[in-house]
Amino acid sequence: MKILVCVKRVVDYNVKARPKADGSGVETANVKMSMNPFDEIAVEESVRLKEAGTADEIVAVSMGVAQCQETLRTALAMGVDRGILIETDAELQPLAVAKLIKAVIEKEKPQLVLLGKQAIDDDANQTGQMFAAFLGWSQGTFASKLTVAGESVEVAREVDAGTEILSLQLPAVITTDLRLNEPRYVKLPNIMKAKKKPLDKLTPEELGVDVSPRLTVLKVTEPAQREAGIKVANAAELVGKLKNEAQVI
Ligand code: AMP
Repeated sequence: MKILVCVKRVVDYNVKARPKADGSGVETANVKMSMNPFDEIAVEESVRLKEAGTADEIVAVSMGVAQCQETLRTALAMGVDRGILIETDAELQPLAVAKLIKAVIEKEKPQLVLLGKQAIDDDANQTGQMFAAFLGWSQGTFASKLTVAGESVEVAREVDAGTEILSLQLPAVITTDLRLNEPRYVKLPNIMKAKKKPLDKLTPEELGVDVSPRLTVLKVTEPAQREAGIKVANAAELVGKLKNEAQVI
């Protein structure tokens, strides 16, 4: 089985995201960038499927600026076999990414596509659902467990009421949730080995995909500051404040 795994370069999850001075977006200049954490989980799962003998090739794809190569190298160091960079300086919205992934799928013909349930920069939670719909493929979103058995894959997904188990026919798209696995640390020898693994470059034009944005970001601002809390001496004072100041009881 061939697996395609999507890896997005985002502001590192330890960095506090700040709006640009002109409010046109999130500041990314001189900010540490890393692989989207949900994509690390997708890479880990694909590598585990290969180690278990279920998958025989894993291809990672990343779309964006030239530095996305670093994200692909991390995926290669984790155990991915080959990388594809779709290089563009254009702003990529989920619809454009979904069209690019569809084009890569048509070229690579994987049986399974693994990707994050959402990117922690735009929190869109749209890409996987969009290209699964474009292709008419089965989709299992927010997977916390997956088991491949022959031509189908069983996915446990976290829903409000508990855990839902789906059986999907391959080919399928699966988006990862936090509890699916704990990604491995990348060891130095594997980082060295990853430098020699193949990494192909394409452009949206070569894939015949129009990536022009369909949404306009009007403004990005800091959330309103929360007011500091206070300590009350006793329950009577709390009830008094809720009644007279907050007027909620
Ligand atoms: P989103 O729909 O933007 O929240 O992203 C969901 C998932 O789509 C991410 O976790 C990635 O796996 C994938 N994805 C989105 N944008 C990109 C990109 N530029 N390059 C690679 N994968 C992406």
